Amino acid sequence: MEMDTIAAISTAIGEGGIAIIRVSGNNAIDIVDSLFKGKKKLSTVDSHTINYGYLIDINGEIIDEVLVSVMRAPKTFTREDVVEVNCHGGIIAAKRVLDTILENGARLAEPGEFTKRAFLNGRIDLSQAEAIMDLIRSKTERAMKLAMRQVEGKLSDKIKEIRKELLEILAHIEVNIDYPEHDIESITHEFLLQKTTKVKDDINFLLSHSNQGKILRDGISTVIVGRPNVGKSSLLNTLLRENKAIVTEIPGTTRDVIEEYISINGVPLKLVDTAGIRETEDLVEKIGVERSRKALSDADLILLVFNNNEELTSEDIKLIDLVKGLRVIVVINKTDLPKELNIDRIKEKLNDVPVIYTSAKEKKGIEELEEVISKLFFEGQIQTDDLTYISNSRHIALLKNALRSVDEAIQSIEEWLPIDMIAIDIKNTMDFLGEIIGEAISDDLSDQIFSQFCVGK
Ligand code: GDP
Ligand code: ZN
Repeated sequence: MEMDTIAAISTAIGEGGIAIIRVSGNNAIDIVDSLFKGKKKLSTVDSHTINYGYLIDINGEIIDEVLVSVMRAPKTFTREDVVEVNCHGGIIAAKRVLDTILENGARLAEPGEFTKRAFLNGRIDLSQAEAIMDLIRSKTERAMKLAMRQVEGKLSDKIKEIRKELLEILAHIEVNIDYPEHDIESITHEFLLQKTTKVKDDINFLLSHSNQGKILRDGISTVIVGRPNVGKSSLLNTLLRENKAIVTEIPGTTRDVIEEYISINGVPLKLVDTAGIRETEDLVEKIGVERSRKALSDADLILLVFNNNEELTSEDIKLIDLVKGLRVIVVINKTDLPKELNIDRIKEKLNDVPVIYTSAKEKKGIEELEEVISKLFFEGQIQTDDLTYISNSRHIALLKNALRSVDEAIQSIEEWLPIDMIAIDIKNTMDFLGEIIGEAISDDLSDQIFSQFCVGK
């Protein structure tokens, strides 16, 4: 595949003294070589070496003192020739270096273009490419481990395994179609039923942990509600203080989002601020019952806060009605003050909802709250080490489609339908799974996926 040479700054903007410009493509070495002044010409150095020297512009003026890594195809991230220029002068120098490289024949890389090339050149599959994006954005160490496993190809391996089983089924069907005179029909029937059921179980297993995977990856989107002065802000601040706040910035994208996360036992809790309802006082008054209900049901978790020191008000009741049926934890705050609240009434109206007693003032009950949150979503345990969590919505949707197809196949087998009809369902199942790892996906889809990356990745 003939591709032009691309370049971008691949270190995060704003990071300390060092910056790296990555160049990839057929002319990567020549382009940087024409600007490099060192002991040897870069075109003559061994692959995978680091070379000290200076970068000079066309007028012979020194831009920066640099270390240049030269990596020749195919053992590189993109499988093309790759040159990485380490600038000592930090980001300002890096921008000048990049500009000079661009003036000398490279093109500025699009977001995700390095990873896209790694994918197109067969170095990684699509689910691995997507995991690289997750890795960059991961909020907690656990989420990072999960993404890392996917980068390593654990999910791809699992998908490939299932596809192999399906292929075996197809091969078996082929044989049966080719030799109909053989009396193997009933054997085939048993075989098909057993094999397809196994595939169905495998897909179900992957799907059964997808919720957790998604939450590890995206965080538990959480809204804190309660009437004024019950202590929402105080609780929020206590949670933030006790759990190092993670503020992630997604650089390089058009919408530079800043989101607030806190880590609850390694699970990112994402404090949502849709329509300004993250910490809301008069939600209903502000946006109406219908819309508040919709906004609240979009959240994964609602913390409904009451004041232990005051009697239940009609406003409290309104909020209780609003959250009924959603995933709620009741927080009775200000337990350092005498009890005035009719807690039984709350429990009656919201039965089966966990109730936690806190004092934001005295920092009490916060650990219990965190424990209930992680229990609610993970039953206490997360096994990132020995489980492949599906975490990406695109993968989840495709797995569900695959499940539907294999189900149809099973039904057809059970009804003794013609074997070529079964083959179609099996083929479909294979295709859906193939899309996860990027086999048979359209250019549009791949463009769309890679455009979500940062520049330089
Ligand atoms: P919000 O309006 O729900 O966000 O409530 P705030 O967090 O702003 O708190 C309202 C008032 O209650 C402030 O004066 C807080 O210091 C106080 N407060 C919050 N939590 C507690 C608590 O657990 N115990 C006591 N005694 N006061 C609290
Ligand atoms: Zn407040």
